[in-house]
Amino acid sequence: MENCIFCKIIAGDIPSSKVYEDKDWYAFKDIEPCAPVHILVVPKKHVKSIMEMTNEGNPEFQNFFPTIKHIATEAGLKDKGFRLVVNTGEKAGQTVFHFHAHIIGGKDMGWPPFPEEAK
Ligand code: AMP
Ligand code: ZN
Repeated sequence: MENCIFCKIIAGDIPSSKVYEDKDWYAFKDIEPCAPVHILVVPKKHVKSIMEMTNEGNPEFQNFFPTIKHIATEAGLKDKGFRLVVNTGEKAGQTVFHFHAHIIGGKDMGWPPFPEEAK
């Protein structure tokens, strides 16, 4: 899709630190990492967010979790664990409107993520 930064990264028009690629998925290092490992996993097909996803005509999304597992394992997180984050919508912090999952790990992150904030 025109003017989509992640479509441009997938196409190779904008450089990225690629960590994985197959026919449906592309993964690269986040440019502003919030942990020692911070990888973005994006479908090659432009989909804005979870809210636009359907099963019909999108068989590639069925591979999402096995793909995450593979990338996290390759990144050395099999035993350390990791957090999988999918910001959905502006109010949730989504800034790039091409679906992406953050694989974040390599340090102790604790839970809940924002303990000091009012519930
Ligand atoms: P989100 O806020 O969930 O939409 O996440 C967007 C993420 O994309 C942020 O963590 C940014 O640091 C990251 N990002 C934006 N531009 C680039 C880029 N050119 N290369 C790598 N990561 C990027
Ligand atoms: Zn896109």
